Amino acid sequence: MDFGIDAATRVLLERAREIGEREVRPAGLEADRMGAPLPPDHSYFKRCIERGEGRTRWRGPVGRERPAGPRRTTVQTLLVAEEYAYWDRGIGVANPGVGLPEGNVLAIGTEEQKEHFLTPFLELDRPRWACFGMTEPGAGSDAAAIRTHARKDGDGWVLNGGKCFIGNASRADWILVQATLDPTKGRAAQRAFFVEQGTPGLGGFKIEKKMGLKAYESTSFSLEDCRVPASHLLGGEQRDTSRAGFSTAMRTFNAGRPVIAANAVGIGRAALDEALRFARDEDRLGDPRVRDRLEAMTRKLRMARLLCLRAGWLADREQPNIVEASMSKAMAASLGQEATTLGMELLGSRAARGDHLIEKLYRDVKAMDIVEGTGQVQRVIIARQLVQLPR
Ligand SMILES: Cc1cc2nc3c(=O)[nH]c(=O)nc-3n(C[C@H](O)[C@H](O)[C@H](O)COP(=O)(O)OP(=O)(O)OC[C@H]3O[C@@H](n4cnc5c(N)ncnc54)[C@H](O)[C@@H]3O)c2cc1C
Repeated sequence: MDFGIDAATRVLLERAREIGEREVRPAGLEADRMGAPLPPDHSYFKRCIERGEGRTRWRGPVGRERPAGPRRTTVQTLLVAEEYAYWDRGIGVANPGVGLPEGNVLAIGTEEQKEHFLTPFLELDRPRWACFGMTEPGAGSDAAAIRTHARKDGDGWVLNGGKCFIGNASRADWILVQATLDPTKGRAAQRAFFVEQGTPGLGGFKIEKKMGLKAYESTSFSLEDCRVPASHLLGGEQRDTSRAGFSTAMRTFNAGRPVIAANAVGIGRAALDEALRFARDEDRLGDPRVRDRLEAMTRKLRMARLLCLRAGWLADREQPNIVEASMSKAMAASLGQEATTLGMELLGSRAARGDHLIEKLYRDVKAMDIVEGTGQVQRVIIARQLVQLPR
């Protein structure tokens, strides 16, 4: 295994650091002070588009493909995810782009679906978003329990139900909605449907209150007799999607776990830097109780980063990484929380006033333990793999 950072990755990281310091951190602080997501017409998003961000990995319709640009490896993606979260993790999610559903669409979408839904993301004329709606009030960790229902009706599908905590939902051009054809049949009956913004029956958008990560919207919405054409079933009707529906959604979450882990390491690193700066300014580094805690935290975060990169290294070699991906998330999320807690403790009343970056990091990091499978769920996954715990 090569632990070196090559020249191309170094350029990526330097660029992320430069944009992070100049653009991402200030935008994240602005949203946190407002207590609301940055509005879609915020100048920050316009600058993202000017920089060429938010473009799809899809290369274009068959026969008219764009030349392939340099593709990021998973390890590069993780290093950039860590750096971005160092500056502001909420802004990382708020950034325009296809986001979470891109992997699903590339994996099983028909050529027509890619052309229709991804073409606007080839060259963005304005900030555009898409999103993936899985979670429901009664179905979070147990994604097999979703109740949003899809019924075939003539040449289309009719959806009824509701979703919650869906990132960027009210500003998305389209939402990939996970639904069940029969709630009694569990995961085998799940399918995903493209629902375009403005479709009658899609509505009731309500931005949820969150303790942290205020920069992006987490939104609930409802589907009431919401009719979509047959062509909006992900993968199309010709294909047997009975296995693809649930397992494709799960693959998205599996691939995302090391990214969330890298985010947690980035937030933890930012907290550690704040704690170090404070200890230096206050001349506290000579105190072994302070110094030892800072040393231990540095060591633990580096350990979490290595686990995370190992999960990415396996993914780049197309080797199974379920255990490493879950371990990286379980470990990094709790160490990210430990690092922000350490910062809160060292800064004491200065942190508790609520206007210091460390306090924001403390609120931001908790979600890394919740999204894309909670810490407990990661431990169940690891145990299943290691000791064949029954499902
Ligand atoms: C900031 C934020 C952003 C989000 N963004 C999205 C998004 O974009 N799209 C989306 O679809 N969802 C999103 N979610 C939802 C997220 O995926 C769920 O919150 C998560 O899956 C947990 O579900 P839950 O909140 O219903 O908790 P529950 O599943 O009800 O869990 C409650 C507690 O029980 C524990 N638990 C549950 N099952 C088990 C088990 N089998 N073994 C041991 N312990 C268990 C959990 O660990 C947790 O501590 C977001 C959530 C947050 C907080």
